[in-house]
Amino acid sequence: MAEVLVYVDHVDGAVRKPTLELLTLARRIGEPVAVALGNGAADTAAALAEHGAVKVLTADAPEFADYLVVPKVDALQAAYDAVSPAAVLLPSSAEAKEIAARLALRIGSGIITDAVDLEAGDQGTVATQSAFAASYTTKSRVSKGTPVITVKPNSAAVEAAPAAGAVEALTVSFSATATGTKVLSRTPRESTGRPELTEAAIVVSGGRGVNGAENFAIIEALADSLGAAVGASRAAVDAGWYPHTNQVGQTGKSVSPQLYIASGISGAIQHRAGMQTSKTIVAVNKDAEAPIFDLVDYGVVGDLFAVVPQLTDEVKSRKG
Ligand code: FAD
Repeated sequence: MAEVLVYVDHVDGAVRKPTLELLTLARRIGEPVAVALGNGAADTAAALAEHGAVKVLTADAPEFADYLVVPKVDALQAAYDAVSPAAVLLPSSAEAKEIAARLALRIGSGIITDAVDLEAGDQGTVATQSAFAASYTTKSRVSKGTPVITVKPNSAAVEAAPAAGAVEALTVSFSATATGTKVLSRTPRESTGRPELTEAAIVVSGGRGVNGAENFAIIEALADSLGAAVGASRAAVDAGWYPHTNQVGQTGKSVSPQLYIASGISGAIQHRAGMQTSKTIVAVNKDAEAPIFDLVDYGVVGDLFAVVPQLTDEVKSRKG
């Protein structure tokens, strides 16, 4: 069976959920060989083996932390040369997309970004993408070289599928450009304790209808009762009520959670572009004619200041 390279997104050895989802998709195409780089790379092996990695190639070197992405591209290329895989899969994070593009260029392959599903086809891996603000679904495959594909978070379920997960050290020789851009400092964002927006299974978003930064406490309270991430429309972000890092939409982040709750958001096309692939969409809006109601699974016509706190209380009471 062909091998499929899976680039591992991890923080000091803790594998992030989108990588485990990638392993589910990789198993449809071939045998997943994971590539884990940087601090704690070897510590990823148990989780990766539990989710189907037949092999885990690891490398750690100061270059991975001290410079931008090129050392990681060098390492992924070394893995590619060693394995000759049927496909290379990466999560659709900003960093991994840059790595994917650079690798595709180096190995002369086509690239597909932001896939939401993958399947094995007669002529190679077929990727499903959502296009034009999710108005269309496209299926495509790379026709030149080995497909390099990035996959959006929440595109597949995480499935346990125990495999050997044999750890092998990857030998990497860094290219002349590897140390071209040095990282001078890193400032970790203050943790809110909430899940990462693009990875969250539930997202609760607020828009202009929230009517003020202080009122976002209502949105946050519902999010916290559900263990959700908080999103915001551009109108709310432009008004300075919520940080841009939380903006959902065309010029913000693209989310695809199991449940998306939009409160006081009209449903402009640019907002839909970032959330329309959510599995279940709920909207609270006092205007029954708001366009958001055209795409919801459940809609509540009402004042968010009355509806959202009631919803929060209901969720809390059900949790006991
Ligand atoms: P509005 O459209 O003003 O809607 C507010 C809604 O709240 C209304 O439907 C209203 O009925 C409802 N409401 C008001 N009070 C209450 C209440 N008390 N209870 C319940 N409902 C209430 N937008 C994004 O979101 N993300 C993007 O990434 C993005 N990128 C853009 C890129 C470009 C190039 C352009 C041109 C625009 C972009 N926009 C984006 C902006 C987008 O066009 C809309 O202007 C924006 O999404 C509107 O935000 P909103 O729905 O919060 O506000």
